[in-house]
Amino acid sequence: MHIHEGSLYWPTTMPVTPARKKIEIAPHYDVVIVGGGMSGALSALALADKGLSIAVLDKRQMAAGSSIANTGLLQYSNDIMLHALIDQIGERDAVRFYQLCLEAIVDLKKTAKRLPIDPGFISRPSVYYASDDKDLESVMTEYVMLQKHGFPCDYWTEDELYKQMSFSKPGAIVTYNDAEVNPYKFVNGILQLVESMGVHLIEYMDVTGVTDENGRLHIATSTGEFQADKVLFTTGYETPPVGKRVGANINRSYVIVTKPIAHSPIWHEHALIWESKRPYLYMRTTTDNRIIVGGLDEDEPEATHSAELINKRCAHLKKQLQALFPDLPIEIEFAYCATFGESLDSLPFIGEHPTKKNHYYLLGYGGNGTVYSMLGSKMLAELMTGKEHPDAHIVQLKRSSSVIKDGNTVIT
Ligand SMILES: Cc1cc2nc3c(=O)[nH]c(=O)nc-3n(C[C@H](O)[C@H](O)[C@H](O)COP(=O)(O)OP(=O)(O)OC[C@H]3O[C@@H](n4cnc5c(N)ncnc54)[C@H](O)[C@@H]3O)c2cc1C
Repeated sequence: MHIHEGSLYWPTTMPVTPARKKIEIAPHYDVVIVGGGMSGALSALALADKGLSIAVLDKRQMAAGSSIANTGLLQYSNDIMLHALIDQIGERDAVRFYQLCLEAIVDLKKTAKRLPIDPGFISRPSVYYASDDKDLESVMTEYVMLQKHGFPCDYWTEDELYKQMSFSKPGAIVTYNDAEVNPYKFVNGILQLVESMGVHLIEYMDVTGVTDENGRLHIATSTGEFQADKVLFTTGYETPPVGKRVGANINRSYVIVTKPIAHSPIWHEHALIWESKRPYLYMRTTTDNRIIVGGLDEDEPEATHSAELINKRCAHLKKQLQALFPDLPIEIEFAYCATFGESLDSLPFIGEHPTKKNHYYLLGYGGNGTVYSMLGSKMLAELMTGKEHPDAHIVQLKRSSSVIKDGNTVIT
């Protein structure tokens, strides 16, 4: 699957990718992880911390899937607002899910501190503005709900928003304890760390199937077969090699990264900015004072090959940025299109397959993918070592919200 196209920014921040250690592939592992992106790397770390023997396999270079296109906004709020999630799955589970996301940002910060390279993790507030007057009521409802359940946030009126951000929108929620990260350095840092802990990282190996023979899994790959007690699919937006994926929409999205801007701060506290409209426009700044802007999602699963289309869409993103900040001198330096997946109920898929024993999944679909990768890796480290997790039902593959309605699980 063609998952990104165009000029990517993150690899330029780390021009030399670390050479992989030479390893002797073992005939058997406790866990084989299929996919060496954000989800695979964080899961490898969580499982290595439990002392398991692990191999991570990737058909590409590690970290070169969707994780290289990730814009690195880390937020406890989700594509689905808390009040809408309460309507969907009930107050207890919805609030718990939001708390898990808040905790995951703390865990991401702790992980960043363990890494051999600095992944540019910086705590930031987020500004979530009402795109127009008709969205203001829902933004205010959301603020009341977040406050009620103790989530760190404020509300800005139109005047306050203008004073702080110098653009005019009907109102905004400001959430605290969010963060930005360089996802490419972050994943590569985790991979270096797990490699030093004895995890085997194997690139350019395509997993083509998994069969169960008397409780032992046989992992078939493009270059041979080996065995594992458990398999974890962290294959991102691509279809895992076992079964058929349902319960998700795979779309594509566009991103621009500007040239460095001469004045700092570019805007109030280098906040992460997004909006109530769907699909939404979102933006952040970088440590070298650039602006990253993403949005304009389209109902097509593969990244376009057309440079002309990328230029056209990215010129539109620049126009939207310039409409908010007319005085900023904006020049595009990087522009790309990338595949982007969302689940039908806006929640990630995390857990064991309902009928295939020892097959686990961590598919963090949605704009908050990194937060889902973090909370999922922690949850899976419990589930895969035989423990229970009190919140696992919220994100399990076979769940009552949306996917089960038509009798399907995420992977059939
Ligand atoms: C444009 C864009 C912006 C985004 N912005 C944000 C953001 O601001 N914040 C945020 O939290 N999230 C964001 N995301 C989401 C985030 O990028 C994803 O959640 C994250 O990349 C998912 O990581 P992953 O490890 O699940 O997938 P990937 O990084 O895609 O890793 C999966 C890996 O599996 C490998 N693989 C697949 N099939 C096989 C196979 N059969 N055999 C072997 N290997 C296989 C692939 O080669 C790939 O390397 C964004 C995504 C996009 C596209």
